[in-house]
Amino acid sequence: PTPDGRRPQSAQQAHAARVAAARRWRLARVPLVPPPPPAVKPRIATREGFEVDGHEELGLPPVFTTVPTDRKVVFLTIDDGAEKDPAFLRMMNDLKVPYSAFLSDYVIKDDYGYFRRLQRAGAVLNNHTLHHRYLPALSYRRQQYEICGMQDVMKERFGERPALFRPPFGNYNRDTLRAARSCGVRYVPLWNEEVFVDRWDYREEDRRIRPGDIVLSHFRGRDEWKGTMPDMIRRFLDKVTAEGFAVARLEDYL
Ligand SMILES: [Zn+2]
Repeated sequence: PTPDGRRPQSAQQAHAARVAAARRWRLARVPLVPPPPPAVKPRIATREGFEVDGHEELGLPPVFTTVPTDRKVVFLTIDDGAEKDPAFLRMMNDLKVPYSAFLSDYVIKDDYGYFRRLQRAGAVLNNHTLHHRYLPALSYRRQQYEICGMQDVMKERFGERPALFRPPFGNYNRDTLRAARSCGVRYVPLWNEEVFVDRWDYREEDRRIRPGDIVLSHFRGRDEWKGTMPDMIRRFLDKVTAEGFAVARLEDYL
């Protein structure tokens, strides 16, 4: 038995379990299995046009929307934390699709336990500030409070200060990156696509998914969407699988 007490699965059993899970959650196709994490991590650089003054010289964390890789993988990231849908937790447990959550304290503090359950099931929890403000309008000190204050919350509630931070709305300036660096942030991943329950939005004009793309979605439900988080995951997985992409863990590539 494995340390968690389960008997190790054969490849055949694992495949059968994936097929059954895909059917249970009414996916059009069985999600592809990602390759093992790369032995040599890609070098992450700031995307052209996304630099701030002195970015490289100051050693500020890179801002990027895609991870350089030839592998047909994408990365799922889910932001904020307002919706705490137990069906989403069950679905992700069942399908074993990796993802990273970027959490904002003002919407998660009524139920940290929900996110601890996601974490125990394998999600990586990252920083999305205390109050989800438009950061470039704030002083350096206020930005430091928003970002580093959330690092403290993450440490207290989830055991770790994340290395990944995403600014609300994707908006930042040099002070944002300086403040983030001052409390241990090493990467600032943005996104190249955004998935909703009823559509995909693309940063690139050709509206194509590329290897290494970071995909954004949100913890939202019927209050804001014409559907549920499982509906959003279904839309996400059906498209990436149909186009031959597996979903990999972002942190494995950083
Ligand atoms: Zn957000």
